[in-house]
Amino acid sequence: MKIEIINVGTELLLGEIVNTNATEIQKVCRELGFSIFYQTVVGDNPERFKECLETAFLRGADMVITTGGLGPTADDLTKELSAEYLGLKMEFREEEAKKVFDKCSFLMGSDQIPKTNYKQAYYPQGAYILENDVGTANGCVMSNGQKRIANLPGPPKEMRYVLNHALLPYLEHYREDKIYTYNINTMMIGESDMAQKLKDIVDNQKEVSIALYASEDHCRVRLAVKAKSQTEADHYVASVKHIIEERLKEYIVKEESLNEALFAIMPPYHIEYKDDFRLPETLRLGKHYSHSKTAMRLEISKSKHRLGDIISVTIHYGDITEAFEVAALKDAALSYARIESRIVANLYRFLKKNTRSKD
Ligand code: ATP
Ligand code: MG
Repeated sequence: MKIEIINVGTELLLGEIVNTNATEIQKVCRELGFSIFYQTVVGDNPERFKECLETAFLRGADMVITTGGLGPTADDLTKELSAEYLGLKMEFREEEAKKVFDKCSFLMGSDQIPKTNYKQAYYPQGAYILENDVGTANGCVMSNGQKRIANLPGPPKEMRYVLNHALLPYLEHYREDKIYTYNINTMMIGESDMAQKLKDIVDNQKEVSIALYASEDHCRVRLAVKAKSQTEADHYVASVKHIIEERLKEYIVKEESLNEALFAIMPPYHIEYKDDFRLPETLRLGKHYSHSKTAMRLEISKSKHRLGDIISVTIHYGDITEAFEVAALKDAALSYARIESRIVANLYRFLKKNTRSKD
């Protein structure tokens, strides 16, 4: 099933709130194996909202999930506009009016509830109610032909409740195979070498798709498979995963991040700064020691270039000395993340090489 999300609310466009509702719906859809190719944010404007619905269905959505605009005030129009777009009449529902009365009089401690609240007792003909036990505005699912729209409330707590307690059980009937992914992280091997080693497997991939990703410091093999459960997915990938792991054995790092991998093998060290440049304190390489106990000494200095700063690092480890440089555009202080990741990668590479040659 192809789903699109439309989050309604001018405050979202003005940067006043973060669109957390979208993220939560995406997770649920992913869990159900549905595809989301587009997501739109639109202000509280009737014409533009209907335009978004039209665009979504024209490009192939089976269902549009909206959030926001279900409140009792005159500018909360999402449900009415969704119905209008699908050509459905709004109908008064006695049992919903009773719920509105019960909830509102309970919350307000009075039997005199504003007439406008009864707006929440009208639903598009044939709509399926998505019960909201934590707020007054229920959501609903309406459809006409192949087009289906689900309206969820805007306040995040209510949205989450209705999504998980009402819409999710409704969508369960349409559950599709989910995509399960597996990552094999490697270091010290380039993307082209890796591609060469795995060429026959990559060329013959079938239900398990295999992709290689290279970043500055490591290479990753990503396996993806569609399955009904984790167990079924594990079963599908088992043999191809085993072959890949065998071929890349000496390059595989178990840790998810290179920082962790380095942390596990870093000897006691000491950093000597040659000028005012300092690495951020958040950089964790392992235990930082005073001069006397160190096994590794790092000399770090900064020089200027037309385009920015160059950080030079010299490693002294036993009787080995090795140096490398990291370039940063403009000011080094603006590129800490890049400098950190390059230093970590170089240190890891250095230690792997030098501990291996000693074995
Ligand atoms: P109400 O009855 O409160 O009017 P509503 O269903 O009409 O509910 P909105 O008025 O659109 O919903 O939004 C209510 C509040 O919920 C917003 O002020 C905002 O704080 C929050 N909200 C709305 N949409 C989102 C979103 N996509 N992500 C996160 N928060 C949101
Ligand atoms: Mg509102």
